[in-house]
Amino acid sequence: MDITSFEQFELNRQLLNAIAELGYTEPTPIQQKTIPLSLGNHDVLGIAQTGTGKTAAYLLPLLMKIKYAQGSAPRGLILAPTRELVLQINEAVSELGKYTDLRHLALYGGLGPKTQIETLRKGVDLLVATPGRFMDLYRLGEIVTKDIRTMVLDEADKMMDMGFMPQIRSILEVIPTKRQNLLFSATFGGRVERLSAEFLEAPIKVEVTPQASTAEMVNQVLYEVPNFRTKINMLDYLVSKDAFQRVIIFARTKGTAENIYKFLARKVVESDKIRVIHANKGQNTRINAMDAFKEGNVQILVATDVAARGIDVAQVSHVINFDLPLIYEDYVHRIGRTGRANHTGEAITFLTMAEEYHVQKIERIIRMTIPRKPLPPEVEVVETPFDEQQAMLREIDEQRRKDDPTFLGAFHEKKAKNLPSPKSRLKAKSKLPNTKKTAPSSPGTRSGIPTGRPGGAAGQKGSGQKRSGSRGGRR
Ligand code: AMP
Repeated sequence: MDITSFEQFELNRQLLNAIAELGYTEPTPIQQKTIPLSLGNHDVLGIAQTGTGKTAAYLLPLLMKIKYAQGSAPRGLILAPTRELVLQINEAVSELGKYTDLRHLALYGGLGPKTQIETLRKGVDLLVATPGRFMDLYRLGEIVTKDIRTMVLDEADKMMDMGFMPQIRSILEVIPTKRQNLLFSATFGGRVERLSAEFLEAPIKVEVTPQASTAEMVNQVLYEVPNFRTKINMLDYLVSKDAFQRVIIFARTKGTAENIYKFLARKVVESDKIRVIHANKGQNTRINAMDAFKEGNVQILVATDVAARGIDVAQVSHVINFDLPLIYEDYVHRIGRTGRANHTGEAITFLTMAEEYHVQKIERIIRMTIPRKPLPPEVEVVETPFDEQQAMLREIDEQRRKDDPTFLGAFHEKKAKNLPSPKSRLKAKSKLPNTKKTAPSSPGTRSGIPTGRPGGAAGQKGSGQKRSGSRGGRR
């Protein structure tokens, strides 16, 4: 049976009214497929990314099941990897449960538990929690688990990436075994499969889009940018353009995110038009930054992958990858921030020669070659500082070694040959030629970046294939 309206799910009036108010006219594919299963009390394994409507896909049947406020102990538990995602899911509960009297609560760390405990004591029907905070409060005796009949794991792949497996196992031990389980994950690899085998009962697997298909909805482009300073110049050039109205800039590390923020806030945009979020930022700062960005008061949000996980902001005009994520699936999550709900978005990625390796792995995951464009002539190409160049060469060596453990390393070979003792090494260091000016384009290279993969195509192909879809990129 084709499902073209929410009425066909036979949801209650309260939910249908909320759905209508949110402007959802038709269930998305993941909703069409999983809602009837969940309503039928099956365990479901949903492979769906953020942006597909997966949150409502598990919330609607759950809200339908717990219906109205009852007793004081929670009857549903949703686990998610980050505070931001927990808050976002909790907000979706507020919206979808608007016409019910259900009491729900977000539990997450980074701030004192006092208010959370007070709310728990008043009685709740549904908890949305990070695994760590849930267990902390459980151990304090503040959570009664005996009535939990539905458990949802959202972004299960990310939870495992973030090392939450032990906490999830502890939670499974303290909640009733007779329950319905819904597991959602953006990717489906060996670990998610094992987790689902461990914790779901005869699950029905629903996959709405082939892995990484968001990529097709987004205009992607790669710029080969030789070094950090030139990346900053390129950012300066891009965000000054009118079209860059609501931009997320992704950085791999907190340090890089801070540097980008400082530079742009000082020189390029008014400081109240830009915010930065990463794990070291206080909870309130992060929430305020997200809200301001959502409301459109902030033009640029600089974020690390973990901080930005699952963030749902409509109409992000551009995603800029200042660098490439080392967990390759995060590339898909990053670019999924733009191009949602039928808006075509644009994802711009900068890459240095040391990132060429990662881009090839990402291209294998998204099953497409990302088009490359030359740097605009307005952007000043800065010479690569010696230290930065050495660091990149070292990184390339490491990448080659990862694919070929017998490889000793060109950088180290050279160093060993030229610099026999630590003493002469010091001396020699000062004599080493300074960095070569990176030519914007030279034969055999693209913007000075060798186009051939370090280690040779054949060597990489073998191991890369084995790794594709896995976490081969981590360390
Ligand atoms: P999610 O994949 O859960 O992060 O949802 C992505 C976005 O889609 C959210 O902004 C939802 O409000 C929105 N959404 C969810 N279901 C529908 C629907 N059936 N029609 C239109 N938008 C929806």
